[in-house]
Amino acid sequence: MIKIEQIVYKITHSDNLSRTGVITLKNKKKIKTPINWMGLSIAESVEFQYNAFKMAGVTNFLSNVYDLKYQDKKGIRNQLIYKLVSEGLFHKVDSGGFQLMKQEITGKKNYELTPEIAYNVQKSLPCEIGVILDVPLGTNNNQRMNSKKIDKTIENFQKLLKLYDQENDTFSILPVVHGHNGKMLDYAINKVENILGEPPTALGIGSLVPMVKPIKGSGNTGGKSNFINILIHLRERLPKTFIHAFGIGGTMAYLAFLCGIDSIDSNGWILKASRGVIQLPGVSDRFLNKKSHGRPYLIENRKIRGTKKLIDEIHMFMNCKCPTCVKYCENGNWAEKDWTRKRDDFDQYTEDSRMKRVVHNLWLYQNELNLIKQAIKDRRIIDFIGKRLQNSIYKSLYLKIIKKIDSNQTDISVFL
Ligand SMILES: [Zn+2]
Repeated sequence: MIKIEQIVYKITHSDNLSRTGVITLKNKKKIKTPINWMGLSIAESVEFQYNAFKMAGVTNFLSNVYDLKYQDKKGIRNQLIYKLVSEGLFHKVDSGGFQLMKQEITGKKNYELTPEIAYNVQKSLPCEIGVILDVPLGTNNNQRMNSKKIDKTIENFQKLLKLYDQENDTFSILPVVHGHNGKMLDYAINKVENILGEPPTALGIGSLVPMVKPIKGSGNTGGKSNFINILIHLRERLPKTFIHAFGIGGTMAYLAFLCGIDSIDSNGWILKASRGVIQLPGVSDRFLNKKSHGRPYLIENRKIRGTKKLIDEIHMFMNCKCPTCVKYCENGNWAEKDWTRKRDDFDQYTEDSRMKRVVHNLWLYQNELNLIKQAIKDRRIIDFIGKRLQNSIYKSLYLKIIKKIDSNQTDISVFL
């Protein structure tokens, strides 16, 4: 047993499984939850990302050891990290275990990551949270192979605790567990509890991505339905713990928050915007114009599945209050020519146009998070997320969660 100063998590409001709260870090900084951490981009310059984050009001970002150690040869992300932290943004450093796994699958390069390497990168940077070097489960691995991976993650956690300087290290450690079912998760959580001598007050959950994305071997993980089961299991097993879900962004994030997840990452923001995608609340990816690939673009009469109701996506986009959009809708009014001008401005292959899309999308993520917090405070989270997912392919998953919440009679307000 190694006694460490864990992240302190205090729940401030709860509504069914969802909660708002505050985490207090080792460096005494406090962050309100739920949190969305924006991943740094490999493709964009320091200036571009800095300006985008500042304009959109981003408050939390993440980097990862694998990138900083092996891809960021010129120290570009390093520069950006210092700049953002000096402006008061909160920083989480992931271990790069996921990137390492991808590297093994593609067999492209062979870089090494050890708990020592991860620790040395994390301690060298100004950051609030350092994530342990975890080993994601394989989708085609048998139970024995995955058990070994779970044990390896625990072993890495123990190694990090031995390296960690309780006196001088200022970042908080985030342990991580993996599992494709409740039994595997409980096995890992019990080990973490034994190491800490108490329940973890903050914990990451990994290996969720193959459940929610159609990748090779996804079927073996139980898919999206199992994703819900796992999150609810975790929430009920550790009702007072701050839980971060790795790799869950976009529309899936609404479901994660409904299952009581306190923190997520958004890594896809830059790729989406550079491809020309803009986002709207509860609407999945949309292009500005009809494209040759035939993917959905903004229209004024999108039919809501299973009903005769229509959604006017153009109206939604024109009424956006983000710093980029607001000038196309002076005093809340806009005409057809404003829409045409805005569409053209947003749909160019220029840096300026890309910045417009990026700021709009990033601002929207922040704004949605604020609305989620408010809905939890007002105890109407089920209704809020139901409205967001009314036209989504995830609506059935939403209904499944509601059913589960009802049948379990879950009420975590007793822990306040
Ligand atoms: Zn906007």
